[in-house]
Amino acid sequence: PHCQQPTGPIETTLCDFETVESYNDELYTQLHDLVQTPFFKYYRADLYRECPFWQENGYCMNRECAITTVDESEIPPSWRASELSRLELPSEDLRNTIPGCYYRDSDFCFLDDLSEGDYVDLTANPERFTGYTGPSAHRVWASIYEENCFGISEWALSSAPNPAPVTLPDSMTGVLRSEGADSSRTCLEKRVYYKIISGLHASISTHICYEFMNQTTGEWSPNLECFINRVAAYPERLQYIYFDLVLLTRAVARIGPYLSAYDYCGTGTHKGDDDTLNQVKNVIGIAQTVGKFDETVLFRGENAAILKEEFKQHFRNVTRIMDCVGCDKCRLWGKVQTSGVGTALKILFELDEKALDPHLNSNLLSRSEVVALINTLHRLSESLYFVNEFRKIWAETAQSE
Ligand code: FAD
Repeated sequence: PHCQQPTGPIETTLCDFETVESYNDELYTQLHDLVQTPFFKYYRADLYRECPFWQENGYCMNRECAITTVDESEIPPSWRASELSRLELPSEDLRNTIPGCYYRDSDFCFLDDLSEGDYVDLTANPERFTGYTGPSAHRVWASIYEENCFGISEWALSSAPNPAPVTLPDSMTGVLRSEGADSSRTCLEKRVYYKIISGLHASISTHICYEFMNQTTGEWSPNLECFINRVAAYPERLQYIYFDLVLLTRAVARIGPYLSAYDYCGTGTHKGDDDTLNQVKNVIGIAQTVGKFDETVLFRGENAAILKEEFKQHFRNVTRIMDCVGCDKCRLWGKVQTSGVGTALKILFELDEKALDPHLNSNLLSRSEVVALINTLHRLSESLYFVNEFRKIWAETAQSE
């Protein structure tokens, strides 16, 4: 029963689980090819910024936590120039409070300063089991969930951007009691925030459990027990992966015309770059079918503007908390995925139809945002693909017992 496929409508979306299931294999195949192309596989991230919230000593020494970077000579020079030109400098004051950060008011995330940091080939550093665990990892997750603290009066009283330092209780269960955040008393925006985070967490756990290393034998193989304990035993966690997938496909569908006009240089030939564009168009085509999310139900009513600001602030903090992840590879994928979701939120909640016009606003998204958006969608789609593989393993295990 744990591995059963959920059915029916996906709350806050205009989509159901069955529709996502029926398109996911095709979506996954297309995305899987797309993320291998040069444009989408190289990502620039500043992985060595200090944790802004607490003294982080929990560095993971496992070999699997390390990443390999790419020499900049392998990267098309135009990327660097275009990445930098797409970003506006923040005010002097803001730069002083957040060193090494570029920030635009419309953004849901803090993007790394693109003059710092290294290029990483994401395909050479897959998100999988690294052995990063314990208080450091728990503290990061706990503070991400702690950001789910909304309230107009609370916000008005304290507009400080930094979350308070988190004190870890003896058991994580205490901190994450918000697992029941789905109560009808909770405001819709808070529930959506929780679902986004919980879905991302469940997706990361699914990757860890599917590409799991037995630390005694050193062998890699899917670990069903890990998946059941972390994801499948909590059906809502699994459902939130679908939720995140619908959110991101809706963003891709909405930004479709802009993505179709984007310059995907990187392969070294016109034909190669055109192929990348055609692959993007295939993904947009599927996204237009699956991506049925009703963003208009959020941030409505009297305090809409304040609530949206609050939501944005919380999500920005989540992207900053990534600098506190004590494992390079986990931090890399944490940055990619929180930036990907942040970009989707920006597309859904910040941009009107006019802003989305590629001719009027050609600098809307940086390359980094486009790469993060597509790679995050790929992660989510891959998680659902892995979930189906786990269902098969479950069925085989049950049969042989
Ligand atoms: P954790 O996953 O650490 O969860 C802590 C607590 O949160 C649980 O006890 C539970 O109460 C609650 N919880 C768990 N899942 C959910 C959910 N979906 N929704 C709501 N509540 C939940 N490790 C790797 O091996 N590879 C990686 O690539 C990797 N990337 C990471 C990226 C980030 C940003 C972070 C913070 C950690 C990452 N880790 C990674 C570590 C990994 O996520 C776990 O923290 C670690 O494996 C320990 O797992 P755990 O079972 O103790 O529970």
